[in-house]
Amino acid sequence: MTGLTLKQVNKKFGEFPVIHEVDLSIDSGELVVFVGPSGCGKSTLLRLIAGLEDITSGEFWIGGQRADQLLAAARNIAMVFQSYALYPHMTVAENIGFPLKLAKLPRARIAEKVAAVGESLRLGALFDRKPGQLSGGQRQRVAIGRALARDPKVLLLDEPLSNLDAALRLEMRMELSRLHKQLAATMVYVTHDQVEAMTLADRIVIMREGKVEQVGTPLELYSRPANVFVAEFIGSPK
Ligand code: ADP
Ligand code: MG
Repeated sequence: MTGLTLKQVNKKFGEFPVIHEVDLSIDSGELVVFVGPSGCGKSTLLRLIAGLEDITSGEFWIGGQRADQLLAAARNIAMVFQSYALYPHMTVAENIGFPLKLAKLPRARIAEKVAAVGESLRLGALFDRKPGQLSGGQRQRVAIGRALARDPKVLLLDEPLSNLDAALRLEMRMELSRLHKQLAATMVYVTHDQVEAMTLADRIVIMREGKVEQVGTPLELYSRPANVFVAEFIGSPK
């Protein structure tokens, strides 16, 4: 299992600072949720953790190693995006197995793994369908399945439910909770939805304008918000 540590991390796009001196430790196996208003830097911070962007300054450690000294494959981090980004011409089973095919696993091993992921996400009955024949919720489950195929140590999810209607969001939230208990993976989940954050998180990271305002369990943030911004965001009585 793999924890993550960020020390004084900054990210600029050109001269424009987007992430400002972020200090954050995420324990192995923890489910941490980043919340904050649109544009506050949640996706950028997640992309830094994924290795899709480089940090401008500071340190980022994955387990006991500096991230810049780890090859992408050794990071063992998978990411699920808001838009499902499935391959439309492939079946559900082929979509889930695709990362394993890229990694050149033997066909029998791929079939085994796809079956296991399909079972844990209850996708087995849909294996032969194409993405165009699935509902939004089913597509997002396939996208999560594809991310899980390689047994990532860290699973990053960027607003994975925001394209779904309210009833489906609730169902998927419970599904993700169950999955987190079942997997031993560290999970980092981005949302702008306070309710989603409060119900899913072991700990919540409240962000504003590229900075971390407060980190704590849902109860800690609710009962002891550090400032009015946090209180209003969490909806606590202050
Ligand atoms: P959030 O996910 O919280 O809505 P983002 O991380 O997407 O916020 O964006 C934070 C800020 O960084 C925004 O002002 C956005 O316009 C800017 N930004 C994000 N990506 C880039 C980029 N590749 N180049 C320049 N600016 C960017
Ligand atoms: Mg975003």
